[in-house]
Amino acid sequence: EAAINRIAAGEVVERPASAVKELVENSIDAGATRIEVTIADGGKTLIRVVDDGCGIAATDLPLALSRHATSKIDGTDLLNIHSFGFRGEALPSLGAVGRLTITSRAAGDTAETIQVTGGTMGPVKPAALARGTQVDLADLFYATPARLKFLRTDRAETQAVVDVVRRLAMAEPFVTMILRDTTGGDERTLFRADAETGHMFDALGGRLRTVLGRDFADNALALDAERDGFHLTGFAALPTFSKGAAVAQYLNVNGRPVRDRMLLGALRAAYMDVMSRDRHPVACLFVDCDPTLVDVNVHPAKSEVRFRDPACVRGLIVSGIRHALAGAGH
Ligand code: ADP
Ligand code: MG
Repeated sequence: EAAINRIAAGEVVERPASAVKELVENSIDAGATRIEVTIADGGKTLIRVVDDGCGIAATDLPLALSRHATSKIDGTDLLNIHSFGFRGEALPSLGAVGRLTITSRAAGDTAETIQVTGGTMGPVKPAALARGTQVDLADLFYATPARLKFLRTDRAETQAVVDVVRRLAMAEPFVTMILRDTTGGDERTLFRADAETGHMFDALGGRLRTVLGRDFADNALALDAERDGFHLTGFAALPTFSKGAAVAQYLNVNGRPVRDRMLLGALRAAYMDVMSRDRHPVACLFVDCDPTLVDVNVHPAKSEVRFRDPACVRGLIVSGIRHALAGAGH
């Protein structure tokens, strides 16, 4: 059973960045307004996520670590998913591949902590914590050296963590997100975005400026289009503006950051006539629809989605962006 758990865990947790993604999504689901992530050695020796969310009641701590235990869905409604989490796999998977410590305090409760090592749960003990949840994941993949060998350099793994945090920050403008590196004992801030205020549109504009720079905000066109129950909003840069790298495409479906091929293809197609092939369009797109029109349960890491009507979504993105570009004279 332990071996099977470790194999299943490897599907969810491929690398430090995937652990960070799962933990930060949990903090967002918990209603956190401030999320602080600390990593060391590319996340290989330490990943710490501290949030000010609702916390986990002491009596629920062992349950949160049990496979397929989720407080977010009752299991009968897999197509109707609103929160990030829904499979109850992240925490048990992390507990199977690293040394996991969860300390949490729910409102009106005392703080408690629990440790899991190699899938074995320790006792729940009293702890000190003001509010919210702190998750420490040390020595990722220490029990699976083969997996450890496949990780890239600390620098590359750190960059993947930065990318994940930026994508989540872009999707959650009202949440303060900070990423720090404590390798070797010195603390460096790798990313910081303070909570935006106001309406979603203004907040998103502010967050875009923080994540993509003022020059993007100055060169971006607002999008707002609708087709057959799919709604497209966000910002697309003028074709004259290019970051040169593929990190400049932020795609979100029902508030969830995704890296979906169909959506990326649609974005490229929208710029096809106005931008040379070696350049990358810069955009932040939000596609929203009724949860029954999209299946987010395709990939274990949840970064791919399957729409009921992909052609419709593709058409919406291509025409929505082309319309905005044409309005700006392109
Ligand atoms: P899922 O997110 O799919 O429900 P997880 O294994 O990621 O599964 O988490 C299990 C449960 O632990 C969650 O359903 C939630 O109740 C609780 N939990 C995890 N992280 C947090 C957090 N940061 N704050 C509050 N509750 C949390
Ligand atoms: Mg989760």
